[in-house]
Amino acid sequence: METRYIFITGGVASSLGKGIISASLGKLLQSRGYEITIQKFDPYINIDPGTLNPYEHGECYVTADGQETDLDLGHYERFTGIQMTRDNSVTTGRIYLSVIERERRGDYLGKTIQVVPHITDEIKRRILLNATKRHFDFVITEIGGTIGDIESQPFLEAIRQLRWEMGPQRALNVHLTYVPYLAAAGELKTKPTQTSVKQLQGFGIQPEVLVLRSEHELSDELRLKVARFCNVDVEAVIQSQDLPSIYEVPVNMQRQGLDAICLKKMGITPGETPQLGLWHDFLERRKNATEVVNIGLVGKYDLQDAYKSILESLAHAGTYNDCKVRAHFINSELITRDNVEELLKGMNGIVICPGFGQRGIEGKIIAAEYTRTHDLPTFGICLGMQMMVIEFARNVLGYADANSREMDQTTPHNVIDIMEEQKNITQMGGTMRLGAYDCQVREGSKTFEAYGGQTLVKERHRHRYEFNNRYLEAYERNGMQCVGVNPAANLVEIVEMPDLHWYIGTQFHPEYSSTVLHPHPLFMSFVKASFAVAK
Ligand code: GLN
Repeated sequence: METRYIFITGGVASSLGKGIISASLGKLLQSRGYEITIQKFDPYINIDPGTLNPYEHGECYVTADGQETDLDLGHYERFTGIQMTRDNSVTTGRIYLSVIERERRGDYLGKTIQVVPHITDEIKRRILLNATKRHFDFVITEIGGTIGDIESQPFLEAIRQLRWEMGPQRALNVHLTYVPYLAAAGELKTKPTQTSVKQLQGFGIQPEVLVLRSEHELSDELRLKVARFCNVDVEAVIQSQDLPSIYEVPVNMQRQGLDAICLKKMGITPGETPQLGLWHDFLERRKNATEVVNIGLVGKYDLQDAYKSILESLAHAGTYNDCKVRAHFINSELITRDNVEELLKGMNGIVICPGFGQRGIEGKIIAAEYTRTHDLPTFGICLGMQMMVIEFARNVLGYADANSREMDQTTPHNVIDIMEEQKNITQMGGTMRLGAYDCQVREGSKTFEAYGGQTLVKERHRHRYEFNNRYLEAYERNGMQCVGVNPAANLVEIVEMPDLHWYIGTQFHPEYSSTVLHPHPLFMSFVKASFAVAK
């Protein structure tokens, strides 16, 4: 089948869940047996979100091939189980960078470089790129931002042109909008949706399918009204009401026929509706898992999206352990020796979160000490693992000034050191150790057990600093084992304390590869251990 393109745009407001709708549509088409991929085009000018503070756009996700991306790629992977690539996350910055590099090379032969056609051509090239490398039946492209943003206009122009060139059977627009409820009037309002569609039409794009986000059930009458005003078939007006979990969205979309209508619009007979058996099993199990496990996230970002993949990984593992993980944010900046017991009270397990820079690290170290000395299940991830290592050096090995080179340039006990390959790096963007690398797991270790007896695993990274092997022997002699090592570079990737119930730190980020149907084994084992504490 010739590759077909589905564009997902958003109107009225941001944060309506375009990423979840894109991921859900991907999931539904995939379960019909189609080869699909989902890509995100972000209008901001940063080359990638790697240099962005999580307060800006939430967590920075990392693909197996080492691209720092928008967090929506995490949803795409968690829903579909498909690994995304560096071609699946594109920003205005990346588009301009390639055009400007080409201009400097002289490739444009004296031409004036303009937004139309040069920038729009480059956007089109990138939209089509994935399908030039391998076959896809459907490429779903989510356009970041909201219709009306100045910076998303070149993307809309590129979509318009592609739709014109390919025809309606090969290129389709799904537009997500918001239907607010005015409590005072007791009414749902469709005007913002009408306006948003008009704007889109003004750019020459007629959406074929509308997904209306709302907090209340929409009547048939209201859907009909929207259909009429917006030139859309009434069965192509789908509603996306608030649901208890984002993982119910694909089921809700399937029930209303989002995937079927997209297929029909592209001239394909939908055929039988797939069962989504395993997905339903997950939802059922999730619903029945009511016993609560309290997990504390010790970190400095007081915002849900900053630790998105960790929260989702905990939720997956909770479901498959038949419990409900309740995550509590514990601000590491506020943790002191005096209040740590109080702040961690009631927690059945602690995650020491990833991060960069000095702020909040002493609190993480205190938390690591508390959980180590009280044998509370603890999962240190990246910076979290590094803080476990520093805590151990300070309080067990007796190096009071132990630290990471990142935080202290001069300490003689740099138990966490800058990686050799990072020493001469001056450019900050995209230069960390990124993406999936092999890790050899020591047989017989707790981690080995957690991984179900695998000796070689592949996990994703995002860091500049590493465990300093000069201290390896001292750690092992004193009870912290370095049980995971990257064979090529001899970097320590996993530390654990075999004498404790569950005290494991990983230099890599296992949270990037937990999916709904394949929860990550380390999260599974950590939640299991925490659940045992809860009982
Ligand atoms: N700042 C640490 C490093 O660069 C940890 C990074 C992280 O937690 N992702 O090594």
